[in-house]
Amino acid sequence: MVSSKRSVKRHAPEKNNHIVVTGARVHNLKNISTTIPRDAMSVITGLSGSGKSSLAFDVIYAESNRRYMESLSTHARTLMGVMTKPDVDKIENLSPAIAIDQKSISRSVRSTVGTMTEIYDYLRILFATIGVPHCPETGRPLYRKSAQDIVQELTELSDGTCVTIFAPILEGATGARTAINAIRADGYARVRFNGKVMTTHDAHLLSEEDVAVNLEVLIDQFEQDEHDPDVERIADSVETAMKLSGGSVIVVVDKEEQRYSRDYYCKESGFRMQEITPRHFSFNNPDGACPACDGIGTKNEIDPDRIIPNKKLSIAEGAIHMWSKTTLNEGRIDRNMQQLVDVAKKYHFSLTTPVHKLSKAQRAFILFGVPIYKNQSTQRDFQGVIPLLEKKYREAKSDHMRKELEKYMTKRVCPQCHGKRLAQQYLSVTVNNKSIDQYVDVSLPEFLVMIDDLETTKKISKNDRTLIAPLVKEMRTRTEALIDVGVGYLTIGRSSHTLSGGEAQRIRLAVQIKSDLTGVIYVLDEPTTGLHSRDTLRLIKTMKQLQEAGNTLIIVEHDGEVMRAADWIVDMGPGAGEEGGEVIFAGTYKKLLASGVETGQYLAGKKHVSNKKTFRKGNGKKITIKGATEHNLKEITVGFPLGLFTVVCGVSGSGKSTLVNGILAPELARTFHRAQKESGAHKSITGMKNVNKVVMIDQTPIGRTPRSNAATYTGVFGHIRELFAQTDLAREKGYSSATFSFNMRGGRCEVCQGDGMTKVEMHLLPDMYVSCESCKGTRYNEKTLSVLYNGANIADVLDMSVSYAHTFFKNHRLIAEKLQTMEDVGLGYLRLGQNATHLSGGEAQRIKLATELARKQTGKTLYILDEPTTGLHFKDTQRLLQVLDALVEKGNSVIVVEHNVDVINHADWVIELGPDGGEEGGYVLFEGTPQKLKKNKKSPTAKFL
Ligand code: ADP
Ligand code: ADP
Ligand code: ZN
Ligand code: ZN
Repeated sequence: MVSSKRSVKRHAPEKNNHIVVTGARVHNLKNISTTIPRDAMSVITGLSGSGKSSLAFDVIYAESNRRYMESLSTHARTLMGVMTKPDVDKIENLSPAIAIDQKSISRSVRSTVGTMTEIYDYLRILFATIGVPHCPETGRPLYRKSAQDIVQELTELSDGTCVTIFAPILEGATGARTAINAIRADGYARVRFNGKVMTTHDAHLLSEEDVAVNLEVLIDQFEQDEHDPDVERIADSVETAMKLSGGSVIVVVDKEEQRYSRDYYCKESGFRMQEITPRHFSFNNPDGACPACDGIGTKNEIDPDRIIPNKKLSIAEGAIHMWSKTTLNEGRIDRNMQQLVDVAKKYHFSLTTPVHKLSKAQRAFILFGVPIYKNQSTQRDFQGVIPLLEKKYREAKSDHMRKELEKYMTKRVCPQCHGKRLAQQYLSVTVNNKSIDQYVDVSLPEFLVMIDDLETTKKISKNDRTLIAPLVKEMRTRTEALIDVGVGYLTIGRSSHTLSGGEAQRIRLAVQIKSDLTGVIYVLDEPTTGLHSRDTLRLIKTMKQLQEAGNTLIIVEHDGEVMRAADWIVDMGPGAGEEGGEVIFAGTYKKLLASGVETGQYLAGKKHVSNKKTFRKGNGKKITIKGATEHNLKEITVGFPLGLFTVVCGVSGSGKSTLVNGILAPELARTFHRAQKESGAHKSITGMKNVNKVVMIDQTPIGRTPRSNAATYTGVFGHIRELFAQTDLAREKGYSSATFSFNMRGGRCEVCQGDGMTKVEMHLLPDMYVSCESCKGTRYNEKTLSVLYNGANIADVLDMSVSYAHTFFKNHRLIAEKLQTMEDVGLGYLRLGQNATHLSGGEAQRIKLATELARKQTGKTLYILDEPTTGLHFKDTQRLLQVLDALVEKGNSVIVVEHNVDVINHADWVIELGPDGGEEGGYVLFEGTPQKLKKNKKSPTAKFL
């Protein structure tokens, strides 16, 4: 009795240490109540679609955010009026929350690892503070005289010398008179122009042109007293002159004129450069950015091979791809195409000749407008396809238009800055003999060595070393934090739009470590995505650090190691979608292992993701990439055996994606789909004839607008619309299948044009969407909704889950088959009409997989998947492996880029790259079966199998 009383006593105040959620009903959540400890690290796990994100992001994070917004000014609140309260009765002990997920990262070409983490901002200050400028032409260091230097020189003049100090004013012709007025108003009585000194009054009477030439303000005039020079007066006058002129002074010493300026100056080439400030090292500032590429480092250039992708076609047959839709036979033809027809007649070449049979001169004329005949040059009757396109691109008004044109372009490294993004003169500034681009182009451990060196090197004065010490310290801690979260192989200069979702998320996590916030709830979405098991422990340490600083971590995660490290685990389930939405377990890791729930059984090793005993030999054929050198790859040759299941693994940054997504996939896509994708550098590729189709299944969204969804993407919606068109009522009213499309006029709601939502512009905040008032979010008009099939209208169908729809349409073979494949990949819980923008990367990937499964199998297809286990629970992974196995059983080949240990164990063949990330990686470490890999001593993966 006594002990239980005591435990109750201890328990009561503990409630304050918990976030208490009561009655949450967002999405599929079944009115759940649960507690999550504060100042602790908790994991929310469960099947994909069970409601993890709904609880973590759409209830806890959303409510915290809403309360924060409520605390803002009334004005802000009016703007936010549409922000609805999540459907939850009560949340206690909530504090401000920060979400670190994979979707909400800036993908701008203008941000880099350095700007995301502020390391680059410190680097800019470093360079502006102690940077040594050099002449970009001669490479010599540049010098300048400071005001003190000038004053020093003047005080040393001999006795009786007459000294006059002028401030040169450079004004355009129109500004001259105004300038004189201003000078007068400032109290200066005399000016000099064209060498003549006069009063400002007289100068005012001069004609506009006379004054416009060289206007100089007389600041001071005195006679030198060698024994007691008036240093203060001299310094004052020099300062004033510099201020007035913006950095220049003219000193006349006994009629001899000297011009001084604050500019940096190269005696040899005459190169001049004004002050250097942090702004000049920013590629996002016009003052510092490379003028050729505006600081982006790359330029879009039109690629003639894309303009005419197939040279065997004639122009009349549509060889010029962008005009190919308007062939000559049809009446409507492009205006530029018409010009081409006219000039072809005039210069006697035939548009029905295949392009590769035209003469070089003729092709140059068509593409670039280079005259064929000498006398033609004066009068151009056709600009050439490429100049026309360039003009169109420059003048394009919409993003859509620009995107269309970019299809004919390739990105090239900027020829002027070679991708370094800054103007030449700022790239010539060095610190410790290295330019800023050299600092940002090395891996992070190397960067650490470089900045450590700044604190000890004798090349930097002691004074300067103390000056920059705080900068170095900030850069060091930030860089160390990045290395700790496992992205040390990246460079400071790496563009954020080339980062994977997992990398970007871990960078944001590292930034938070530095923010020194406490009492914050961090909500994370699978931070281990793309991370090798080797680096997971370090990542956990980082997260623990955040917790120890007094924060609460809520992590949506499936990784066993992260769960083991967590103080508290919430398991959602039991199924996905409608069958999920409940808390099936909440407690410690230990208790989870002992409990009967499936997650615990997998973790305890009682259930296995893969029970594979035998390994396939494959069909003896393979595809081989030879001499791959893209990014960090070390001229490697890799064979991909066919007819089996291959996994490419290795630590993050070892080169997996570069090899598979950067070289193999685009090469195959070019061969089989005539795709125009550039592939990474390699010597050759052989064996492609051993497959006849390639299917890339990645995690990119299936659509970026609410206009696409799982039903439209898989094509099942087309069949369903047909079915509705065949009902009696539809036939009677003359409705076709198009009537049931929310993308076409006719049956949709015209108020929202079938969106079901209307956009509310939020000025400073991202746009918000609210349910359309006219159709109540159903997307259709009343008439369309009155058509029923088995009691359901078309909007009801879009609201069905895949599983429910499968039963509902079981009598329709085509529809049922497609829905079956979606269930097979674990998407039974998904609503048919759930809009594409709400799908996770993993869901999008599985929808693509389902679509492929529903297609007729060739038996010689190569499937390439990039990290398919992202967002998948053990059980989901098990199901995915079954689907992939089925594909291989039919004779196809599967290549998967993965770090998930269960998937590696399940492979027939493993290719490991390594041994490390970045420059330290890019070698083939291992090729063989997982069995053999386990025994490999050099492999960082082996010990986790
Ligand atoms: P998990 O994070 O466990 O994978 P989610 O919380 O994302 O699962 O999803 C739970 C259920 O809620 C799923 O059936 C999903 O389709 C549905 N859902 C998720 N987001 C939305 C949304 N924005 N609107 C409607 N339903 C959603
Ligand atoms: P993995 O897929 O094994 O994680 P990656 O192929 O993504 O490795 O990266 C291999 C190396 O190439 C790393 O050093 C990485 O920083 C670099 N890299 C990858 N993509 C790019 C890119 N778009 N631009 C520059 N470097 C890149
Ligand atoms: Zn450039
Ligand atoms: Zn509407």
